[in-house]
Amino acid sequence: MKNLLASVGQMLFPNLCVCCDGYLSKQEVSVCDLCLYTLSKFELIAALDNPLAKKFWGRLKLEAATAYLSYKGTNDVKKLMHALKYKGDTHLGIEMGKWLGDALIRTGNFSTIDCVIPIPLHPKRQMLRGYNQCDLLGHGLCEAMKIPMISDVVVRERHNSTQTKKKRYDRYVNSKELFRVIDPSRIQGKNVLLIDDVITTGSTMESCGSVLLDVEGLKLSLASLAVAI
Ligand SMILES: [Zn+2]
Repeated sequence: MKNLLASVGQMLFPNLCVCCDGYLSKQEVSVCDLCLYTLSKFELIAALDNPLAKKFWGRLKLEAATAYLSYKGTNDVKKLMHALKYKGDTHLGIEMGKWLGDALIRTGNFSTIDCVIPIPLHPKRQMLRGYNQCDLLGHGLCEAMKIPMISDVVVRERHNSTQTKKKRYDRYVNSKELFRVIDPSRIQGKNVLLIDDVITTGSTMESCGSVLLDVEGLKLSLASLAVAI
């Protein structure tokens, strides 16, 4: 009966690939294998001096930083990020977190990570959206890497949308006040992996990362599902 209902459901609401709108097989989740294979990947993912890591040189002391996808040259990555951010596609978010987790394992640079912290949304924005897309990624990533996620140790105090016109230094001082660690003892001395969905300027990672690095003995690494460089 359950199978019959599932089959009828599949006929009425077929699972389609987020990128190409083609039908998905039972094994495929949200994205078909062909689209997954052809998605634009971040080159030099395993290099410790990759362009994303270099972006943070002189800004944050990091053990490693990398991303899985690149915005370069394809619209499919944009479609995925849009579905994650605005359509509340939970399956897609968790699945993409697994892609990122598997990719991080393959690099060999993230084997000592103790826990994952997703960049928090401002509570008001999370209430409006109904979810934090980075939490979805975090669930998938932690499942793949078999490490715990801690999503309640950092809070976001304000939006940073009004920062664009400020000068770089003002922006830095201003952005440091964006995030606050509410219980440092839980992450003291830990190897923390901070994750985001997309990195563009890196300013959000920088402000959240800098408050984490104020915690005693904490070592920090970064990972993002996609990067626009
Ligand atoms: Zn497809």
